[in-house]
Amino acid sequence: MMVAMSNDRTDRLQPDMLLKCSRCGSWHAVRPHEGDVGESAAANDMLFWVCEGQRFFAGSVGGRARLPIRRRDVVRGRRGA
Ligand SMILES: [Zn+2]
Repeated sequence: MMVAMSNDRTDRLQPDMLLKCSRCGSWHAVRPHEGDVGESAAANDMLFWVCEGQRFFAGSVGGRARLPIRRRDVVRGRRGA
């Protein structure tokens, strides 16, 4: 049974990954919500991106995003997705 290394996955959300914004078409970094998120562990796993002052929910850490994402250290994104 093969176990994929999650570190190699580029389709799973991690903090500071870049997400292609559906609103402006730019890449924005996703970050945990800073501020009044409360103490719930689930809230701490949620990632958001900010576009034009508005915050959008990207998904949970380790989960799939509903928009294209890529790692910040990858200069050229994978094509054909
Ligand atoms: Zn945007």
